Amino acid sequence: MGRKVCLIRGDGIGPEIVDAVLRVFAAARVDLDWVELEAGLACVEQGRPLVPEETLAALAEVGVGLKAPMTTPIGKGSVSPNVTLRKRLDLYACVRPIRSLRGIPTLFPDTDLVIFRENTEDLYGQVEYMATPTVAYTLKIISQTGCERICRAAFDYARANGRRKVTAVHKANIMKISDGLFLRTFQRIAEEYPEIEANDMIVDAQCMHLVTRWREYDVLVTENLYGDILSDLCAGMVGGLGVAPGANIGTKCAIFEAVHGSAPPLAGLNKANPTALLLSATMMLGHLGEMDKKAAIEGALEATLARGIKTGDLGGDASTSGFADAIASELRG
Ligand code: NAD
Repeated sequence: MGRKVCLIRGDGIGPEIVDAVLRVFAAARVDLDWVELEAGLACVEQGRPLVPEETLAALAEVGVGLKAPMTTPIGKGSVSPNVTLRKRLDLYACVRPIRSLRGIPTLFPDTDLVIFRENTEDLYGQVEYMATPTVAYTLKIISQTGCERICRAAFDYARANGRRKVTAVHKANIMKISDGLFLRTFQRIAEEYPEIEANDMIVDAQCMHLVTRWREYDVLVTENLYGDILSDLCAGMVGGLGVAPGANIGTKCAIFEAVHGSAPPLAGLNKANPTALLLSATMMLGHLGEMDKKAAIEGALEATLARGIKTGDLGGDASTSGFADAIASELRG
């Protein structure tokens, strides 16, 4: 029996794209012991919390998981199960690799970036109030500890994955105190990694460079809001939501998931693109040290796309399961 890994099937298109990933993993003979956990709408329907305590405990104990998207229930005061997982497990690093894939036409060939977005601080603390009846405040909270750990995560990743350069993205020319703290911390941490080139960019200039000089960038590390915007920009550069993988990583646990949500209009139609979840799952294999399996699956995925087998979001007519079967056939040779 292989290493234990948690699995959350999610809802909407979640179960279909999970099935596709499991089909591909079986063809690649990936040896994992899946521990299925419950969370999301199905739990609410049974009168249980969106993310039950036993699910959180299992994720913390096993330490790694693959998660399909989950719908945020509609209604006042509803919280997102995804945000709950990030907060309760302190998954402070949102990691999003952005790579152009063979078979997916793009204006930005040879894109190969990884964005490290701080996941817990900045303007996302939801500390907002009306300072006067006509003036609204939102607090931007940046801590030295928060900056240290996201910068260290980016440099550790660069070192472990043979990446040459880490760029800090900020607006310290205007927010000299909060973004200044982020930038100074980045520069101090960078000294611990002398073999990796470190530089920094103002966020607006970074946006322009991403669409004009994208090949010059490698790993980007940034605060929560800039990371949110940059990662969608970059996902669009290489084919959109259907192909954008990600991970949320903390001290206790790493959860791998697609950037997209549960896409309710596509649910149950066998039309969703499983690529983003599959690439999230191969990121997980990399995290587990299974580099050969990761490379084999990613190679089979790209070979399938290059043969023109694609789901509807990429202009093709393959079904979710048909696309997975085509990748599985590539793997079986
Ligand atoms: P979404 O990402 O689910 O879908 C937006 C649109 O993008 C879809 O209608 C579809 O046209 C397309 N799309 C997304 N994924 C696709 C795929 N794999 N293949 C083909 N097309 C795809 O965003 P949304 O509609 O804003 O959110 C739906 C639900 O998902 C909401 O309840 C939201 O809260 C939740 N959500 C969950 C996560 C998560 O689980 N991590 C992330 C984002 C949104």
